[in-house]
Amino acid sequence: LHIQMNKSFYHILLEYSLRKLPEEACGFIVGTVQNNILTASTFVPITNIAHNLNESFVMDPIEVMHSLNSQTKQSQIVGIFHTHPSAEALLSQEDLQTLWHTLPSHWILSLLQPEAPKLRIYKLKKNHPVSYHKLPFAID
Ligand SMILES: [Zn+2]
Repeated sequence: LHIQMNKSFYHILLEYSLRKLPEEACGFIVGTVQNNILTASTFVPITNIAHNLNESFVMDPIEVMHSLNSQTKQSQIVGIFHTHPSAEALLSQEDLQTLWHTLPSHWILSLLQPEAPKLRIYKLKKNHPVSYHKLPFAID
């Protein structure tokens, strides 16, 4: 699976994430998957309701339900996104226990160095233990 997004999409994702600092930002990636190409078209921010906003994320369930219900064939939830304000873009133990493992992609944006953000996108597989691999992406 290859991931494609345009510059303005990435810019929106980045701007929102920086604005939320020092909190973790989270949301859904909406788009399409066709011929093994995932095209990200819209970022849907979801309010983080975790107790410790700077170190974890819990998505507001009402907003999640709304996003799930507003999917269409041309705009499906194809990824889940969150930031690591003060850690590398690696999956944490908590991230690996996600209930969203059936989604095609897991996006992590590290803002450890806010002037040099690092995006990594993974595919998780719910084995024992959970396995994952990095997905290639292009911003154009
Ligand atoms: Zn995480």
